[in-house]
Parts: sequence; C-alpha cells; structure tokens
Amino acid sequence: MIDYTFTTGEDLLTICRVEQIPISEAAIYAELDREEMDRQGIMDEMRKNLQVMRESIREGLEEQQMSITGLMGEDADKLMAFSETAIMGPELSRIVAASMAVTEVNASMGLIVAAPTAGASGILPGVLIEYGDTHDLSEKQLIRGLCNAGAIGLIIAHNASIAGASGGCQAETGTAAAMAASALTELRGGTPEMCLHAAAIALKNVMGLVCDPVAGLVECPCIKRNAIGAANAVLCSDMAMAGIESVIPFDEVVTAMRNVGRMMNPDLRETARGGLAATPTALKIAEKIKNLE
Ligand code: SF4
Repeated sequence: MIDYTFTTGEDLLTICRVEQIPISEAAIYAELDREEMDRQGIMDEMRKNLQVMRESIREGLEEQQMSITGLMGEDADKLMAFSETAIMGPELSRIVAASMAVTEVNASMGLIVAAPTAGASGILPGVLIEYGDTHDLSEKQLIRGLCNAGAIGLIIAHNASIAGASGGCQAETGTAAAMAASALTELRGGTPEMCLHAAAIALKNVMGLVCDPVAGLVECPCIKRNAIGAANAVLCSDMAMAGIESVIPFDEVVTAMRNVGRMMNPDLRETARGGLAATPTALKIAEKIKNLE
C-alpha cells in the first residue's frame, strides 16, 4: 500500500505521478492517512475556513477598517475603487485589494484564517476567492485550492519556517505567496510540477525579506507586504502556466530560505529593532502609541 505521507516537494510529486492525481488530492490522501477525519470532515473543515476567508474580505472592503492604533486602514477600499484605472488591470487589482482587506481586518482584531499566519493572512484568500469569483469557480474547486495550498505550507513549515520571528518576512508572506501561487496554478489546470515551479519562484522572489513591523504591530509594513505577496503569487502562477520553470528546485529553495532565515540578525526577525521599525518615523510612531497606553 502506498504511503501518502510527504515532507518534501519531491515526495509530493512522486505521489502525484504514481497516483496520477493533483496536489490537492494528494493532500487529502495524506490527511486521510492520519485517520483523524474522513473525507467529508476534511471538506467541511475547509468549507468553514473558506467562509471565514470570504467574510473577512467582505468585512475589510465594506466596513470601515481602521487598525486599533489608527495607523493603518481603508487602503484596500482605495485600491478597489482604483481597480478599473490601475495599470495592473482590474482582476489583479481586485485580488490585491482583497488581500489587503483581510490584513486590515486582522489589524483591527477581526476574525481571519491564519494562512499560514495572521500577518500573512490576506494573500491566499485574496488570490483564491477573487480569482474564483471572477472565473465562476465552485466552492468545491476553491476547497481544492485550499488543500493544494495546505500541502505547500506543510512542506515549508516542516523544512524551514512560516514565522517571521524565526525566518523573517520571507518565511511568512513568502510562504503565503508560494501557497497561493501553487493553488492558483492547480485551479488553472497546471500540473503538480508547474505548481511547485510557481511556489519556488514565489519564494525566491522574496528571499531575504526581513520582518520589521513598526512598533512591533502587525500593520506596517505587513498589510502592503500582503499586497505584493498576492501580486507575486499571481505573477508566478502566470510564469509557471507559460512554461517557465524555477532553475532551483522547490525543495532546495525551501532549504535556502531556511538557511537565510538562520543567518538573519535577530533585529530583523520580528523584534522591531531593525529595518523599517528602526527608522526615525517608526520610532516616533512607537513612542506615540506607547503614550496612548
Ligand atoms: S513584517 Fe513581520 S509581522 Fe509583518 S507580515 Fe512580515 S513577517 Fe509578519
């Protein structure tokens, strides 16, 4: 009997090739192997996540979202209103705006799905749900997208990190972009190999990105990094669908990302002591917030 457990991209591709299945199905098989849930249970869990994701986009765009500190908010609305004029085009603008909307909800302490973390929670829902709505995808297809994304997140978490505190922002928004790029590629009919190329390129694009939240809050630059993360995911899916391959295989990119994270000075890993968090403006903001407490 085949073992559906996978910890690397190569394992995952082997399962997909042997069974002639997409990554989403391999992820479901692996989950079934753990015998904690049946297929229906997995689908129901994913459906719940999808509903929370959808609601967080709606809330972020329709209700006035200001962060608790008043530092960030309502930028998603501005981009959505500009979507018909934007050079990147209406579809990508809506995807990016939706991603920002979710992270604005997160910054205002609303309910989001950490995918893979709260700081990077906008990228996957923005990409999947906006793409799905534009192309009339069913709920079932979007759930497949989440399963695919979960497989990629799992491999990165196992072999590197998904937390800014240990790997910098490359590990957080980079992982979310890799997850979204792979999921989007499967939804567009790409092969498992193409999915991993998309994920690898997305991670490579932000290799070395530091975690430097102003005043230690998941607001600035996090919301805008979700915006670029969503655009990164779409671009990498486009590249993979066009037949472009990552020169460095996915697993090696993940290892490189882990090693870069380990080399990163702790000041650049969520401590708010370096990068943008150490700029004069950020220090003034931090002081102001401290005085509000
Ligand atoms: S800057 Fe840090 S806290 Fe903000 S999204 Fe990136 S990893 Fe998360």
